[in-house]
Amino acid sequence: SRRDPEQREFLQAVEEVLMCLEPVLAKKPEYASVIERMCEPERLIVFRVPWIDDAGNVQINRGFRVQFNSAIGPFKGGLRFHPSVNVSIIKFLGFEQCFKNALTTLPMGGGKGGSDFDPDGKSDNEVMRFCQSFMLELARHIGPQTDVPAGDIGVGAREIGYLYGMYKRVQNEFTGTLTGKAIEWGGSNIRPEATGYGAVYFGLEILKEQNDTIKGKRCMVSGSGNVAQYAAKKLIELGAVVLTMSDSTGYVYEPNGFTEAQIDQIMEIKNKTRTTLAAYKSETGQYVAGERCWNAPCNADIALPCATQNEVEYEDAVKLVSKGVKLVLEGANMPTTNDGINFLHSKGCVLAPAKACNAGGVAVSGLEMAQNATMTTWSPEDVDDRLKSIMVDIHAAASAAAKEYGVPLQAGANIAGFEKIARAMIAQGCV
Ligand code: NDP
Repeated sequence: SRRDPEQREFLQAVEEVLMCLEPVLAKKPEYASVIERMCEPERLIVFRVPWIDDAGNVQINRGFRVQFNSAIGPFKGGLRFHPSVNVSIIKFLGFEQCFKNALTTLPMGGGKGGSDFDPDGKSDNEVMRFCQSFMLELARHIGPQTDVPAGDIGVGAREIGYLYGMYKRVQNEFTGTLTGKAIEWGGSNIRPEATGYGAVYFGLEILKEQNDTIKGKRCMVSGSGNVAQYAAKKLIELGAVVLTMSDSTGYVYEPNGFTEAQIDQIMEIKNKTRTTLAAYKSETGQYVAGERCWNAPCNADIALPCATQNEVEYEDAVKLVSKGVKLVLEGANMPTTNDGINFLHSKGCVLAPAKACNAGGVAVSGLEMAQNATMTTWSPEDVDDRLKSIMVDIHAAASAAAKEYGVPLQAGANIAGFEKIARAMIAQGCV
């Protein structure tokens, strides 16, 4: 905080991890030597992104890539295009990515990047010109053994296509330097589904430990983007009831639960016509403008925040508990504030932290890198099975650390990720 007093989200993410490490340092004091280094990125790249809009005007955005920690593998992490992106947001995401990637069991270090560019309301051509200019600079800093970006908020299949096209043109090589590619040109089956599916698979492990199942569970999902869509689909497939979906304009409440066809309608609105949930049509449900979905008039068992950071503040956590929620599966990155986490824990709620719960996306990105490196494509069933077993392993590691130190699952995930990176950093010396 001495170095970056204004980086609120980054400091929040660091505080959340450090709060969990006290019992670890008491038992293994040698780890103290790496903590300060772990909080300082290996490299932070900030660059100008000039592009020309449809009216012929020059526009300027700011591009970022933080290469946070490469102790256990090449930097790996998504790109976010959203007007709220700044150094603090990129550093919080990059910091969390290190622990998440460590938990996946795959050899990936942590990074993150993006821009304050807002794709909302831009034409396809404008998005393409922006992506090309962004990649023209980024290309010199990344590579299949160096740093492998992927998507995040505002960066989906369309943007990955434009970014990869430019990367290939600049480098004159076809390598797996971006993940989230389409299946016809180097992508992996199940990558679009992986984060949402993985979050649900993680929830299944928690329920199994409690001798419970997902069937009939009433779920409130926030967001309606990539993560929310596939979390909702998997929940419905497994017999759970999905009551809400939301976007930055408001939320939709379906008192009897969304049908698969209704989720398809939401996917059409968000992925194809690219408008807001106000366009959602239903005889059974309703759209409510300007509110978070946690206000929906229903009781629930499980909450899945799948939109963005700090969307479950203290007051929201209080609301969720009063609705009967006993399990929070974090699909988004850092969706719960630290006082929200403490409140949920104080009421006996189990919180599946983002670093573990949403690691399915980057895990399948890691599998995409493995397929690219060996010039193979695995079947959807094969990738889905690998995803399931990775989520089982992540849960086992987080749960074992939680038991070893007598702390909640959220702290267990932080500890398991931290110890793996700490061991690697100590072994590699002061670099
Ligand atoms: P998308 O861009 O596909 O969807 C984001 C969703 O969240 C949209 O519904 C969007 O609404 C809403 N949203 C975004 N910003 C805000 C905001 N400031 N306030 C309210 N709503 C907001 O992104 P993803 O689904 O890919 O990502 C969602 C979360 O999951 C992020 O935290 C991301 O970091 C995390 N994540 C994603 C992974 C992936 O594989 N995609 C992997 C791991 C984590 P609108 O459409 O109106 O903008």
